Order: sequence, then C-alpha cells, then structure tokens
Amino acid sequence: MFVDRAVITVRAGKGGDGKVSFRRGKYEPKGGPNGGNGGKGGDVVIVSEDGMSTLYDLRFQAVYAAQDGEAGGQKQCSGKDGEDFVLKLPPGTMIFDHQTGAMMHDLGPGGRHVIAKGGRGGFGNEHFKSSINQAPRTAEAGEPGQQFQVRLELKLIAEVGLIGMPNAGKSTLLKALTRANPKIADYPFTTLSPQLGIAEVDGQRRIVLADIPGLIEGAAGGAGLGLDFLRHVERTRVLVHLLDASPPDGTKPADNYRTVRRELEQYSVELAERPELIVLNKMDLFPDDASRRKALLAVCRDLELRPGTEALAISGAAGVGLPELLERLWLMLHPRAEQNSGWKASAPAV
Ligand code: GDP
Ligand code: MG
Repeated sequence: MFVDRAVITVRAGKGGDGKVSFRRGKYEPKGGPNGGNGGKGGDVVIVSEDGMSTLYDLRFQAVYAAQDGEAGGQKQCSGKDGEDFVLKLPPGTMIFDHQTGAMMHDLGPGGRHVIAKGGRGGFGNEHFKSSINQAPRTAEAGEPGQQFQVRLELKLIAEVGLIGMPNAGKSTLLKALTRANPKIADYPFTTLSPQLGIAEVDGQRRIVLADIPGLIEGAAGGAGLGLDFLRHVERTRVLVHLLDASPPDGTKPADNYRTVRRELEQYSVELAERPELIVLNKMDLFPDDASRRKALLAVCRDLELRPGTEALAISGAAGVGLPELLERLWLMLHPRAEQNSGWKASAPAV
C-alpha cells in the first residue's frame, strides 16, 4: 500500500498569566486587588478538507502552533484568548501519537477534532481576595498548552494511471512529473515494482499518478504485480496512454496503441472504460517542429483523434509539454474547474 507520511509537532497556546494589581485612585490610595485573569491558549484543531488528496503541503513546515492567551490586565481586565490553529488535512488521514504509536483520530469526511488543547489562563490576584486575605499579592501563571509530535498517515489513491508499451517512457515520465524514483533501464520488463508519485500542477493543485506496468510487460494476468497494487490501479480515474512516437523496432505508434488497448480490455473492462488521454512521447527524437507536427498528425489520423485535446505531444526525458499535460489531466479529474480557473486549452508544445 502506498502511504503518504508526515511527522509534525503540534503546539497549543500557553494560557496567559494572571495579573497582580491594586486599585489606585485619588481617594483610594490603598484599594483592593483588581488583577485580571489570563486568556486561554488557542487549541490546535484538525479539520477534514474536501479535495485534498495528499500530505504534500506538510513537508514545508515542522511545527504548527496556536496562539498564546494574553496576560490579564489591571482593573479586572481578562486577557484575550489565543486563536486556535486550524490544520486542514485530507479526509482519510490517520493521526498517531508519535511517541506511543497510539492512534488518536481517524479523520473522516467532515471531521473536526481538537488534537492539542490550549492552556488555561491563570487567575489574577482579584480572584484570591477573601475575608482573611484582602490584599493578595499572588496571581497564577497560565498553564502551558499541550505539545507533542504526531505522525500522519494517508493511504494514497492514484488518480491517474500511466499505461503503454514497454519502453514507451512511463518510468521516465513519472520521474519527470513527480518525486517518485522508479527504476529506469534500457530493456523491456524493467518495471518490476509499481511506482507512485505526486505531481505538483502548481502551489495548490496536486495529482497522484501511478505507473501501471505489467499489462504488457510479461505480467499478463497480474503475475509479478501484487494484488494490492492491482486493486489500487482499478481505482485510478483517468488513464494516460503513452506512445513512443518513433519506436526503434519500426512499429507504428497507432498499432502499439491498439495492442495495449486489447491487453487492457482483457485485463479489466472497468479500467478500459476510464477516460484516456493519448500522449505521444519522445518528441525530442525529431529534428524540427515540422516533423514533430507531422508525427502527431499521423497518429491522430490513424486513431481519429483531435490533436491538442485528445492527444498531446511531449518529451518526458526533455521535460517538454509537461505543464500542459498536467493541466489537461487536472481538467479531466476536475471537469468543473475549467470555468473557474481561467485556463485555456492550448496547442501541445511540439
Ligand atoms: P517504460 O518501460 O515505459 O517505463 O520506459 P522507460 O521510462 O524505462 O524508458 C525506456 C527508454 O526510453 C529509456 O532508455 C529512456 O531513456 C527512453 N526515454 C524515455 N522517455 C524518453 C523521451 O522523452 N525521449 C527519448 N529520446 N527517450 C526517452
Ligand atoms: Mg518502466
């Protein structure tokens, strides 16, 4: 199973200290105590955020802290409570106490939990006034907030599956798009273990991709791939069908396309019905734009596709056309995003 993990520190706010003070006025040179209470420290709260699919954002910050409560003031003024810190996490995140390993929460959709409680504010000296002690000089300190390390775990679900003939460039593309580190070699049957990675479309948007080897690569029927992974693959929502634009064995990209489709249909009818984006790879092998254009148009003609929408041209190795690919995949995964984002489909960068 592929799991995204993060260990972070959560720190709730300290309670504000109570105040020691006495009324002092023109006619009241020795007035009674009036020190206010400290405010409560803020809590660290976790909430489930729809549409988040990874723990990627947590990589950049180690400590998540809520605000401290303010100290009490004179004239019975209570200090302000500290603000809570709200940590948004993807639904399905499991939260463990890092030290003991005990599970604290299994965050469901719509879930909201206080994981670190803010400290209570200290009482000011006014609170301690009594018949036997009319001028207490003591106030309480605020209590510390809870602080500890938590481990977060999220089962990653691949949203996009990469399919294609051996050597089409799936591993290379996955590596170029994500931080995964799949094996790459010059011969078929290279990808023995499945690979998964997180691609960053931009600061806010992520796509989880999986390399789906083994449909053709000597693993028909799923041999060589764990059952776990196959179940995983069945949950991908969109397929990228990668084609070598100029196969060294002289085969035609459109024929290779059909071979993989046949294999896919045999393997899983359900998977074969997923929306598919056809991506012509290794465009860097062509000497100029005109020949690249020609190669794309030839494949589109053979497969009756519209270039630029149903088929894109890229080079995984040279990193050309990758932002366009990610934008297109994002739209396929989030069809309604198009109206909001202002992004317009552009011609492939060939
Ligand atoms: P996979 O079997 O589909 O995972 O393919 P790999 O990623 O292992 O790539 C197979 C071979 O094609 C390797 O030698 C890669 O270096 C090469 N390759 C992959 N992508 C490109 C590309 O965009 N351009 C060129 N020229 N070669 C590529
Ligand atoms: Mg591979």
